Amino acid sequence: MTLTIGVDVGGTKIAAGLVTEEGEVLRTARRDTPASEVDATADAIADLVTELRADEDVAAVGIGAAGFCDAERTSVVYAPNLAWRNEPLAEKITKATGLPTVVENDANAAAWGEFRFGAAKKAKSAIVVTLGTGIGGGIIINDHLVRGFQGFAGEIGHMQMKAGGRRCGCGLRGCWERYGSGTALVHEAREIATVAPASAVRLLEMAGGDPQQITGQMVTAAAKEGDPVALDVLETVADWIGRGLADLTAILDPEMIVLGGGVATAGEILLEPVQKAFEKNLTARLYRDIAEITLAQLGVPAGLIGAADLARLPA
Ligand SMILES: [Zn+2]
Repeated sequence: MTLTIGVDVGGTKIAAGLVTEEGEVLRTARRDTPASEVDATADAIADLVTELRADEDVAAVGIGAAGFCDAERTSVVYAPNLAWRNEPLAEKITKATGLPTVVENDANAAAWGEFRFGAAKKAKSAIVVTLGTGIGGGIIINDHLVRGFQGFAGEIGHMQMKAGGRRCGCGLRGCWERYGSGTALVHEAREIATVAPASAVRLLEMAGGDPQQITGQMVTAAAKEGDPVALDVLETVADWIGRGLADLTAILDPEMIVLGGGVATAGEILLEPVQKAFEKNLTARLYRDIAEITLAQLGVPAGLIGAADLARLPA
């Protein structure tokens, strides 16, 4: 049995795990991310690897990083929420630990985890969409993770869904993640609670009367209770999600679409309107097999499980 170590580097936490070839996590460890210092981040990753390795025979390290990673899987070119700029992360970790190391975008790593060991393990082509603060994604076509020319493929959250639409953190306007993410869900809910407080009674009650205190969890909880306004908010966001998935399907023709992240915890009450909007906007829908849309199975560890498995793949 060959073991590898997977590391998931986020904006606030670094999570690492010792993972088997079957995707089973034997041990985990975590640290806070020293976001402003690149060397401190590399040191923290190396410490985690040393801690998890202990007396085990570990073959390689895979790192999923919240940023744009190069196609050679050696460097983080740019990370919007961390200090990395052309950071040769793999080389640093190899130097510190003596282990071969690869670096992959965190959403790609999570997608690979779901593809290999989770919701899409029976599929050969899948799109895995993480609906969180933004929208992240990973694309697998015929068993291959799509990296693109320079490693930047799969940034599906920045498809322009609405010309001249809401401003996005990427600097452009109208990106999908401004309409179909957890942030969008909260935005819609706060807007209706502000503009039409008399109709958003339940949400306002949950938020102590202040629209700005409404969270995504509150919207999901109220929708599960059957609150019509929360359901309406969820359906608005689900409609955007379904449209985006239809666009992606027109281009990529996946067998399966997996939804993960905070918004997906709404479960069936999200999936149903997403499926409806997806099919309504799907090209050639009468003449194709409709891709199955399903919920992610691995949860938060998907990133480190995927990164650990990607470390086994040849360059
Ligand atoms: Zn954008």
